[in-house]
Amino acid sequence: MHRVTLIPGDGIGPSIADVAVRVIETSGVDISWERVEAGLPAIDKYKDPLPSVALDSIRNTRIALKGPLTTPVGSGFRSVNVALRQEFDLYANVRPALSFEGAPSRYKDINLVIVRENTEEFYAGIEHYIDPARSAAETIGVVTRSGSERILRYAYEYAKKNGRKKVTTVHKANILKYTGGLFLEVSKRVGVEYPEITTDDKIVDNMAMQMVINPHQFDVIVTTNLFGDILSDLASGLVGGLGLAPGANIGYNTAIFEAVHGSAPDIAGKNIANPCAIILAGVMMLRHLGEQDAAHRIERAVAEVIREGKFVTRDLNPTNPVGTKEMGEAIVAKMKQGGA
Ligand code: NAD
Repeated sequence: MHRVTLIPGDGIGPSIADVAVRVIETSGVDISWERVEAGLPAIDKYKDPLPSVALDSIRNTRIALKGPLTTPVGSGFRSVNVALRQEFDLYANVRPALSFEGAPSRYKDINLVIVRENTEEFYAGIEHYIDPARSAAETIGVVTRSGSERILRYAYEYAKKNGRKKVTTVHKANILKYTGGLFLEVSKRVGVEYPEITTDDKIVDNMAMQMVINPHQFDVIVTTNLFGDILSDLASGLVGGLGLAPGANIGYNTAIFEAVHGSAPDIAGKNIANPCAIILAGVMMLRHLGEQDAAHRIERAVAEVIREGKFVTRDLNPTNPVGTKEMGEAIVAKMKQGGA
């Protein structure tokens, strides 16, 4: 039996997390869920967006499936998502973008993975106004040699293990000569240790354009924190949107799985959010737990429901959509038909 911490999150989180749990349970994998609150519901309950009950649970289970958590914009409490990644040193954020037949998108056959450094640079929280009048503000992005080395090595090892052919390092070393320069320098040094993998690098602005024009040229993309955040939303847009983009936050002994998307307050409470991103994050979690067969069956059921296009949410079928729960039930039914 696996023990897994479940953080339903806020906004659309609880509704999609419920669907993901139902789908994972249908696979027959024996999981004991420890359900804990973080984010807005935890403020109501504990006056703390990241209460010790949530941290203790993850410390014990070392695995979590997490719904999205709202972070107030411009002021208010700091991101709980970032705090979790830092607390557990989840340095590798792995965000695949995979085409699903039947999903409305500009491209077919996209299969790329963004490996984002998850603990350093502009997300480390080193920021302040320089004076009480708030006449200027500073955010300091620290990139370390060791932090760069471990994420770059992770990307190359990931490529090797998963039969990937190319790793593209994305940077802005022409302007950010120190932080970008260090990351690029380490990437070149690590890259030569993997002669079987093609090594490439791109400046981030060109990269954004290249991903829109010709995404098929990319395979594994490795980059620093902020660029990885932006490019992974872009990558989700290549395959049909945020509703299809899962992610894993991986550390040395702890991992947290979640959708790439946020709490989507604009559609919360309406039963219209696509549950697939968090279900696919659950698939990544099952693979991490060694439950390959269950992961494969869930992924196949999701792919079939999307391909048929009859029981999908409005982001995938705007003219005749079903709700979040109903799409989840269609995936469950498909798994049962397939003998799950
Ligand atoms: P968002 O990802 O929540 O939403 C962006 C757009 O995509 C919205 O139009 C939304 O309706 C749509 N969308 C997102 N998920 C969807 C789904 N499953 N199905 C259909 N449509 C979906 O981004 P945002 O609006 O910029 O951020 C909202 C909040 O989420 C912010 O507080 C932000 O800080 C937070 N956030 C959290 C995480 C996380 O928990 N890891 C990630 C990103 C943003």
